[in-house]
Amino acid sequence: MKHPFELPELSYDYSALEPYIDAQTMEIHHCKHHQAYIDKLNMALEPYEDLQTQTLAELLKNLAGLPEDIRGAVQNHGGGHYNHALFWKIMSPTGGQVTEKFESALEKNFQSVEAFKETFTQAAMGQFGSGWAWLAKDGQGRLSVVSTPNQNNPISDGLVPILGLDVWEHAYYLNYQNRRADYIKAWWAVVDWTGAEENL
Ligand code: MN
Repeated sequence: MKHPFELPELSYDYSALEPYIDAQTMEIHHCKHHQAYIDKLNMALEPYEDLQTQTLAELLKNLAGLPEDIRGAVQNHGGGHYNHALFWKIMSPTGGQVTEKFESALEKNFQSVEAFKETFTQAAMGQFGSGWAWLAKDGQGRLSVVSTPNQNNPISDGLVPILGLDVWEHAYYLNYQNRRADYIKAWWAVVDWTGAEENL
């Protein structure tokens, strides 16, 4: 993904993840929230032609090297674009079934799939205010669960994001109101483990 960044199309309809994620939330989340991050990211990079040749991952891996006046915008809006592009890709109406490859990786790193889900849920519940919960991989291939505030991404800390769950209220408020725990529990049913294998 490079400048000018564009809203990626979903491979499923807005209503496809119901009843776990409702169509109205998906539509607003994709075409309003995600689009807004892209617009603001493009605007921030507009005066910096040298940075426009970099991929979004490259920019996010080197926030400290960016001009100070756009560092915050790239972290927030660039992160917003990166995170949501990943989020849409790791969900599917036919998801929910942990693949063999994930099962063995999760057992190796967390003892069991259930233990991983519990750790991940705690990270998602424990993120105060807006942010994300992640399954991420380090340079040695070790998996860990981390949470990040705002639109920060583990990629800026040298990790590779594998799965990410948006716990901003805009991701669940229409259907779940304040019940973040119910949203997290429901989300497992639409996780596209097969699609996420390419991140693993
Ligand atoms: Mn979001």
